[in-house]
Amino acid sequence: MSILRAVKGMNDVLPEDIPRWRRIEGLFWDTVARYGYGEVRTPVVEPTPLFVRSIGEATDIVEKEMYTFVDKGNDTLTLRPEGTASAVRAYLEHSVGGREPVTKWAYLGPMFRRERPARGRYRQFWQAGAEVFGDPGPYTDAEMIDMIVSMMRRLGVADVEVLVNSLGSGDTRARYLEALVRYLEPHEASLSEDSRRRLRTNPLRVLDSKAADDRAIAAAAPRILDYLGDEDRAHFDGLCATLEALGTPYRVEPTLVRGLDYYSRTLFEVVGHGGELGAQNTLCGGGRYDGLVEALGGAATPGLGFAIGLERLLLVMGAGETAPALDVFVVYRPGLEREASTLLKALRDGGLRADADLRGGSLKSQFRRADKSGARLGLVIGPDEVERAAVTVKDLRGGEQETLPRDGLVPRLAERLARETA
Ligand code: AMP
Repeated sequence: MSILRAVKGMNDVLPEDIPRWRRIEGLFWDTVARYGYGEVRTPVVEPTPLFVRSIGEATDIVEKEMYTFVDKGNDTLTLRPEGTASAVRAYLEHSVGGREPVTKWAYLGPMFRRERPARGRYRQFWQAGAEVFGDPGPYTDAEMIDMIVSMMRRLGVADVEVLVNSLGSGDTRARYLEALVRYLEPHEASLSEDSRRRLRTNPLRVLDSKAADDRAIAAAAPRILDYLGDEDRAHFDGLCATLEALGTPYRVEPTLVRGLDYYSRTLFEVVGHGGELGAQNTLCGGGRYDGLVEALGGAATPGLGFAIGLERLLLVMGAGETAPALDVFVVYRPGLEREASTLLKALRDGGLRADADLRGGSLKSQFRRADKSGARLGLVIGPDEVERAAVTVKDLRGGEQETLPRDGLVPRLAERLARETA
């Protein structure tokens, strides 16, 4: 019988890979805490209209990539493709804006998009992200970008490029869209089918198309930065000046648009190089969404957010060193299982990571497992040790051994291990 396999594009993470994941997660939480963000956890399933209304109908995500299903109660639900829509929903549902003028939330969890799987592009992938509600920027925009770059540096991912652009707002956008459509219309016949449709429904999206012909046409399109009104221009200049003051390297990329409709003003991406990253080299995307809270039924509230793809970060981080999962491995003469079990319990209660092969077997095979486990110390119990109320402690790397009294053993080992790893 053939074995069952995971859904294509959805991955298992096995214990040997977990230390690297934990390292990223730990650094992410440590970083956002330094900047005053609190963690928010929202459901992975939401009512479908939440994503349609926020991400936008004429986007790849909504048109092609959402995992949408009708549940047994006839509700139409969607596995979340990103985190911002849910954060805004929770912000409104719990009336958070009425309690505090500025809200800073961070989240980490799996997202789902039915994209074509490739290296760095999966159907279930993990994002770590954050949102700020109530602050119109631009200083917070710069601070957010700087926070992301600092975090990547602390992870050892230094070869990154920050691309920034402004999508303007209100008037700017209207004037620009008019100019863009005027430019695109004569090229209509050469555009892909999706782009021809979007020329009518959502012309900005044509600039974000991946089709080669579309890209060539988009490259010569008018630039939104040339259309910024005074306030949008001042906002963008403020962002750039603050990035300079913070010493955050960045590059203005006037063609940058992103796959979600809700962005306004500041838009940014962090692109990585090297490691095992291939074509999917955007590590992080984010920007300002000043109209989204209102569009989802709240009071006009500025918003700003980003999301980092954790699998892509892992691809640029490289292997790194991994700490062994165990401190000690208990090896015992067959017949002494009970003594082994009580010693294990005492070790674990004392805070040590301890294991043994409780199936029994020869001392030789147990030592083989002890060596393979990566544990620093082997603890041997035989009849002699039982009689003397002692344990033989063997350094599994150096080979030296000594017999120590069972009384006071656990704190003594804990101290020795702490000293050796310090
Ligand atoms: P987005 O939510 O599309 O702005 O994406 C933000 C980040 O999430 C990207 O820069 C990627 O690092 C990551 N990401 C988006 N889609 C995928 C995917 N299908 N597989 C893996 N990572 C993804």
